[in-house]
This record gives sequence, C-alpha cells and structure tokens, in this order.
Amino acid sequence: MAPPYRLSCHCGDIAIEVDAELSGLIECNCSTCRRTGFLHWKVDAGEIRLITEKRRLSTYVWRGVTEGHHFCPTCSVAIMRSGYPNDRVSLNARCIEDIDIFTLDAQVYDGRNGMHQGPLK
Ligand SMILES: [Zn+2]
Repeated sequence: MAPPYRLSCHCGDIAIEVDAELSGLIECNCSTCRRTGFLHWKVDAGEIRLITEKRRLSTYVWRGVTEGHHFCPTCSVAIMRSGYPNDRVSLNARCIEDIDIFTLDAQVYDGRNGMHQGPLK
C-alpha cells in the first residue's frame, strides 16, 4: 500500500486520510497503551485530513491538558493521540482500512518505565 492511507473507527463516524509513509510504528506498554492496544504511527498534523463531516470526538486527558487520547464516543475506538512536540500527532495504525495488522512491523517502547504515567497507574 502507499499513501494516502484511510483510517476509521469501527462505526465509521470518524474517518481521516493521511499523506505519510507508513513507517516507525511503535507498540507501547504504558498504562493506557497496554489497555487500548494503541499502535502508534506519528505523523505531521498537516498530513491529516478529516474525511467525515464534523462529528463529536471524545478525549481522555490524564497527564496534561494539552495531551489527549481521542476516541469515537459511539464505538469507543481510539484513532488519535495529541500532545507531541513539533505539531506531531500519533495515529492508531490499527485503524488503517484494508490492511492486515499482522503484516505491520512495529518497534516496542517501554513506556511503562520510560515516561511519566500521570496520576493513575
Ligand atoms: Zn465510531
């Protein structure tokens, strides 16, 4: 596959298109990623386009107000995280349409020990 990639939540309310190479995927074991299975794909915010019409997106904040775990309020699938430096956002590569996630290469990151966990473990 090649860009653009289309990502969507399960119910389809939220869909985005991304003009970025699919590389640098990271699986993390921090307190939130280990629970949600979020597969990080960091891209520039300017490379993302909203495909669906305006929809409500829920945000879970646990460390700082500028950081968010964004998910669909209907089907609960987390599609994006924000709060990274240099206008980068992290997309959930598991939301890429028409792809077998077992074919994706990902590095592991020890977020459990390598980053501030926020008030909740
Ligand atoms: Zn949804």
